[in-house]
Amino acid sequence: MAEKKYVYTFGGDKTEGEGAMKNLLGGKGANLAEMAKIGLPVPPGFTVTTECCVDYFKNGNKLPAGVEKQVTTALKHIEKAMGMKFGDPKNPLLVSCRSGARSSMPGMMETVLNVGLSSKTIPGLIAKTKNERFVYDAYRRLIMMYSDVVMEKAEGIEPAEGKAIRRQLDAMLDELKEKKGYKSDTDLTVADLKSLCEKFKKQIKKTLGREFPDDSMAQLWGGIGAVLKSWNGKKAVAYRRIEGIPDDWGTAVNVQSMVFGNMGDTSATGVAFTRDPATGDNKFYGEWLINAQGEDVVAGTRTPNPLNEATSNEQNKHLKSMEKLYPSIYKQLCGVRETLEKHYHDMLDIEFTIQEKKLFMLQCRVGKRTGTAALNMAMDMLKEKLIDEKEAVMRVSPTQLDELLHPILDPKAEKKQTVITKGLPAGPGGAVGRIVFNSTEAVAAAKKGEAVIMVREETNPEDVEGMRAATGILTARGGMTSHAALVCRGWGKCCIVGAGAIAVDEVKGVLKIGGKTYTSKDYLSLNGSRGWVYAGKVATMDSSENPKLKNFMKLVDKFRKLQVRTNADTAADAEVARKFGAEGIGLFRTEHMFYGKNSEKPLFCLRKMILSNTKEERVAALKELEKYVKSDIKATLTAMKGLPVTIRLLDPPLHEFVPSEPAKRKELADALGIKVSEIAKRAEALHETNPMMGHRGVRLGITYPEVSEMQMRAILEAALEVGSVPEIMVPVTCDPREIKFQKAILERVAAEVAKKKKVAKIEYKVGTMIEIPRAAILADEMAKEAEFFSFGTNDLTQMTFGFSRDDIGGFLPEYLDQKIIDADPFQTIDTVGVGRLIEIAVKGGRSVRKNLKVGICGEQGGEGKSVAFCHKMGLNYVSCSPFRVPIARLAAAQAAIAEGRK
Ligand code: ADP
Ligand code: MG
Ligand code: MG
Repeated sequence: MAEKKYVYTFGGDKTEGEGAMKNLLGGKGANLAEMAKIGLPVPPGFTVTTECCVDYFKNGNKLPAGVEKQVTTALKHIEKAMGMKFGDPKNPLLVSCRSGARSSMPGMMETVLNVGLSSKTIPGLIAKTKNERFVYDAYRRLIMMYSDVVMEKAEGIEPAEGKAIRRQLDAMLDELKEKKGYKSDTDLTVADLKSLCEKFKKQIKKTLGREFPDDSMAQLWGGIGAVLKSWNGKKAVAYRRIEGIPDDWGTAVNVQSMVFGNMGDTSATGVAFTRDPATGDNKFYGEWLINAQGEDVVAGTRTPNPLNEATSNEQNKHLKSMEKLYPSIYKQLCGVRETLEKHYHDMLDIEFTIQEKKLFMLQCRVGKRTGTAALNMAMDMLKEKLIDEKEAVMRVSPTQLDELLHPILDPKAEKKQTVITKGLPAGPGGAVGRIVFNSTEAVAAAKKGEAVIMVREETNPEDVEGMRAATGILTARGGMTSHAALVCRGWGKCCIVGAGAIAVDEVKGVLKIGGKTYTSKDYLSLNGSRGWVYAGKVATMDSSENPKLKNFMKLVDKFRKLQVRTNADTAADAEVARKFGAEGIGLFRTEHMFYGKNSEKPLFCLRKMILSNTKEERVAALKELEKYVKSDIKATLTAMKGLPVTIRLLDPPLHEFVPSEPAKRKELADALGIKVSEIAKRAEALHETNPMMGHRGVRLGITYPEVSEMQMRAILEAALEVGSVPEIMVPVTCDPREIKFQKAILERVAAEVAKKKKVAKIEYKVGTMIEIPRAAILADEMAKEAEFFSFGTNDLTQMTFGFSRDDIGGFLPEYLDQKIIDADPFQTIDTVGVGRLIEIAVKGGRSVRKNLKVGICGEQGGEGKSVAFCHKMGLNYVSCSPFRVPIARLAAAQAAIAEGRK
């Protein structure tokens, strides 16, 4: 069998990969190859494929056959391109070992820099560079990263809190700086660094029981192995769970020739976005540090300088920009920016290093952005003709749109408050919550449904679960490219970083701002779009009135084939949904009128009806109820005038409506002229073992036709008075004869209403919900009676899986963890099972009624993937809650565009 190709070179005179090979080379590797191909200055290197990682784990943590030989050959490629040799005492090449999966997982996996420095190569590098300080700075960095990543994490060692080797070495470094009165790492002298390196190595031996390896090749293999293992590191696994990234993708390993940003004042390193990732502004946005290596910018140990004048901020405006300090390099970088945007047709996130005034590109990827930025960039790039209309629609994800619809602090309420401190606007929107100081507290509070603001000195990858759980994040340190900023931007979470004037004591749980003390008993409000912090609770509001959003949605509607309706139970909901672009109501439940505000009277009538013992009693109660039902329906029909409205016949869980309080029971007994004990007896009789499958839906209309009759009359009269054609929907059916039975009643009632109202004929439509598997299977028969179908995918999912929706908490998490099912089927349609039934029903129904109108009204109707599935099934519409309407519109357009591209 031919050996697998596990290694691809890039840079120098031979680039084997390209940007399209992300699955195999990881995002970082593929884009390094692509940048090399289009002629950008990329230090040469090679990528060990993700396939190698997968095989490595399959192989019991052993490198698959052939890798060693291929790596050795590829190393020669770098040596040749650089004119240097790895491990050579005179002219030593140094490399980095960098992780990089298919999709970016910021800070979740490991990288080691300066690999190859040893007692054998150090003198040669000093002789060559004549820069001893630089060499020992590189060496101390290698020791710090290598001991942490390769010797501790990759070995699965879990040190006690605060005892991690990296922490210990950091503390030693800080101690030395303090002793000498240094402000910055750059103040350290050669002698300082030399002695530090020796102390570091002793500490490593003491803590980890092993020597720091003094051999270039041993370091390289250690680095490669550690990067592979970091795929299964604790934080990477936790992040994958949250992001839904499959475990079997694996990471690639990029081995790349080092370029040095720490060679003195004409060397530097930085990160940038080709446009502002928070606002979407067409401004080159970045941060850089003189005399530093890459990790310094992200770590937040020094406040980075602004890239240019236009984007300097509160935190860094006192520091020199590259535009001012090195105008010619800045110009070159601007050229790279333009080349990249033209090539990728998108906003890129880049890493670069300047070695003695020479620019090198170390990474590029399509940049994460807030929902606001995604929207603004899409519309701008369309105008710039960088992308076309379809692409613009594809550029905003349903989740990002969701974020745009999320609450912001109410500007009016905000104006009345004083800003207590400012930071950088890292994640958009507004957040209000109680203060917590760590991840555990945040998770615990979120479980109880409590909104919290997580306040930290700075966040690190171990905090992700708490960050996920919190409503907003506030940190004292870190810039726009810090961990907290990157993660929150990806999630669209409200976040403020680098609020330098706050003092956080995470252990004591104390936050100090401007002389005031706040604890976990206090509340904060954040304006993440501006970086402003307020004490206490500021009112929030939704942001649906954004004019840019409106233009974008117009574009969306150009490409969409599915209609989008809403599930609305009140006139108020209907109005909101109309504003969001709903094209009708797909599900109007009349039960809502028995809950909450103004429900007293109709509820009393309903209770009388439920507890009636004879038809006479029931008819009397229904008569009273009818006027409430009619006026309720009329209000919603009026709000939706001109648009279709599907009204579902009552499907109430009867037993839930029986009062338990003695006073209420007495009142009912009096009204019905019976004894209280009799109420108890009748209530007892209503008890069901399995109400979900009990006396509900159409079954009620069959045992008590007078219940259907009352509703039908109310609907027909209301519709006639408003001037709309109602769609009457029969719930919980499993056989065509149930519909036939209801239709007979409807035809009689319609004739009566026509006569009473003196009109020739009343127009209406009758259809059914498809929410029982039998109804789906008998769809051709059902369609002979029904003029439309609406998939009630909550019940359909429940009945198809046999999972009680209210009881899944007990087993669903385990099912997801064990990968027995891929996703919660109540959130996203199970396309293979429930979806199969939908397919059968659509085909069956349309085989007898060609123009059968088909929609979906379950919870999943507003979820991106489910909407795409409905598009594929050829449904006429999806119906979802009012706030999901824009999201469903977007998902429908994206599904149509994606289909056209195939
Ligand atoms: P991450 O995925 O966490 O960003 P990277 O692999 O990109 O990790 O590396 C961490 C830092 O080290 C980055 O700032 C990167 O630019 C820098 N770096 C990586 N490889 C090299 C190299 N060969 N020369 C100089 N700097 C490097
Ligand atoms: Mg990087
Ligand atoms: Mg139902």
